[in-house]
Amino acid sequence: MKKYIKKTIETEVLESIVCDCCKKEFSPKQDWIKTQEFLHINFTGGWESVFGDGNSVECDICPDCLNDLLGKYMRFNNEVDDTDDTDEDE
Ligand SMILES: [Zn+2]
Repeated sequence: MKKYIKKTIETEVLESIVCDCCKKEFSPKQDWIKTQEFLHINFTGGWESVFGDGNSVECDICPDCLNDLLGKYMRFNNEVDDTDDTDEDE
């Protein structure tokens, strides 16, 4: 037989994210989609990295700034392809 006790566990809950580019603050309660689409960069520079050997690199970029900075390089693959000729009725 298992016996249980009730235990309160303290945990961290995201309150807001500040964009490192535009400095705007986004709250998941008010801007759920935007906080979900933030780009979070977090890595350690490797040997001869352009960011410096062993440097910890962090950056949080909101979707608006991400689109402004890199949108022209992004590929969007969710559009319906009208050129698809695989229709089985033909
Ligand atoms: Zn931003």
